[in-house]
Amino acid sequence: MRKRLDELELNISRELIDATSISEPDPSWSFTDDRWHDHKWSISEDGSANVPSCDTRLIVVGHYEDGDEIEETEYRCKECGEVIKPRWRGNVYRKFQSGLTSAFLDGVPLSESETRTVIEVMGAMRDLMP
Ligand SMILES: [Zn+2]
Repeated sequence: MRKRLDELELNISRELIDATSISEPDPSWSFTDDRWHDHKWSISEDGSANVPSCDTRLIVVGHYEDGDEIEETEYRCKECGEVIKPRWRGNVYRKFQSGLTSAFLDGVPLSESETRTVIEVMGAMRDLMP
């Protein structure tokens, strides 16, 4: 039995990818080193963070079982070179980012261009309805 296009069910869904990291920079942290230099996190809207008063470099702190190096970021005061340990905190909210989109017409998978065509045709039909 053939169905008319407006009887078909279009399902479009988008995956959500869990982008939560276990810890994030603690915005309430601040620290004054031995030479009275102040340090605190600078956190941008996209969640990236740095300590502007510090230089950073990756240091090897150990090895995984497969031999790969375990690296950590070391923070040092730009003025006096003191090693600074910025505070992290556990994440409270999950963060999601958009993943892949899938579209099905009555259970049949559609490509991106097919989906666009179906949406256009369905929209046009809706405009023609009284
Ligand atoms: Zn300093």
